Amino acid sequence: KEENRDGYPAIFDRFSAFYSRYVYRRIRDCWNYPISSVPGSKVVLKERVTNDCGWTFEFTGNKINCLNLASYNYLGFAESSGPCAEAAIASIRQYGISTGGTRQQYGTCALHDELERLTAEFLGVDDAITFGMGYATNTLNLPTLISEGTLVISDEKNHASIIVGIKTPLGTVKVFKHNDVKDLENLLQEAIYYGQDRKGDYKPWKKIIIIVEGVYSMEGTIVRLPEIIALKKKYKAYLYLDEAHSIGAMGKNGRGVLDYFGCDPNDIDILMGTYTKSFGSAGGYIAGNKKLITYLRKHSFASKHAWAMPPALAAQIISVLKILMGRDGTKEGQRRIEALARNTRYFRLRLEQMGIIIHGNEDSPVVPILVYLYSNIVSMVRSLIKEKIATVGVGYPATPLLEGRIRICLSAGHTKEELDHALDVIEKVADEIGIKYSRKPRDLT
Ligand code: PMP
Repeated sequence: KEENRDGYPAIFDRFSAFYSRYVYRRIRDCWNYPISSVPGSKVVLKERVTNDCGWTFEFTGNKINCLNLASYNYLGFAESSGPCAEAAIASIRQYGISTGGTRQQYGTCALHDELERLTAEFLGVDDAITFGMGYATNTLNLPTLISEGTLVISDEKNHASIIVGIKTPLGTVKVFKHNDVKDLENLLQEAIYYGQDRKGDYKPWKKIIIIVEGVYSMEGTIVRLPEIIALKKKYKAYLYLDEAHSIGAMGKNGRGVLDYFGCDPNDIDILMGTYTKSFGSAGGYIAGNKKLITYLRKHSFASKHAWAMPPALAAQIISVLKILMGRDGTKEGQRRIEALARNTRYFRLRLEQMGIIIHGNEDSPVVPILVYLYSNIVSMVRSLIKEKIATVGVGYPATPLLEGRIRICLSAGHTKEELDHALDVIEKVADEIGIKYSRKPRDLT
């Protein structure tokens, strides 16, 4: 009967302590293999074993050459050769590695300006500003956008960087059920009537910001963007869209969920994204109208106090953007975008046909396989590594206790043969641990 702070049975808290102290320690071999190659469609892991009930690791000196279903390299641009890597190498020869300062000091070089212009053009908005880290793009810019009297309405599955960014003393945060537009509208309706500031006084909210992601990285769901845009217009709210997992990976031209749904980019007030996934690089951006970007250039904690993006990263991303926009004179960008979409549909369909339960939308390259029990995560990750397939196991507290999953990220770099091999192995392992269900009803006659 006893409940914890979130209204769940108190036994959950005891489970939490049990997992972190006893279980996670013994199964640390399921995570964090150091890699010793480019995280492409294949990746080389350094084999290690755990000793002393998980307290220590020991490297065996062996390498495991794995098929890589664990990296966010959606378009296969994480490469050590080719035009993007060459552009990065050439920029090191010109600028070195570090910018030597923040954007507001002497940290801005010509590559930052070019990257910002290209990013804005790619997205179809006025302007963009870039930052050295995707995580910090959320944590350091959201507080700049939230002021006294701001109500933030955030999807319950939003990324940790958003959750940290909106926890400022000035704003009030309300959370709506994942991708549930009805629940969002209920909160917006409530918000028109009153707002309660931090002193407890009731007055109208000065500003309402809805925060959503394009593709949710643990769920594989795609945001219900057209409906959310309609709501933001109806209730005169601002919309903040984090496209970390969707930029490059979604839409006919790789321009994210806006492109996927055919929405107008100017309907999104704050377009955030990272260069870490589809671009095979690192860093983040915020794009939007001139007024917003000029404000952030001046006031963002990230442009005032954080190191600017290293020039080599900017050079790599510029090169990727040019390929995606067809400015390199080839159809390579389009080829990769189409390959990712094809691989995604094929892989998801085959898993469903096998009777494996997956979350998310058919076009989402993030594929969470539901294995439910914690012990299944461990069995599956270990069996797949033995078969030389790298995946990511995700469990409590990152997911609800009984919704453990194996997360797979597809890439344009995967060949059909590689995917077929992975599917055969996954089916065998799923049979062994008993997570398949029969799609056909049982014949009882
Ligand atoms: N936003 C979302 C939705 C993410 O999933 C992530 C990281 N996976 C980030 C922001 C942080 O980006 P980065 O890893 O580039 O720092």
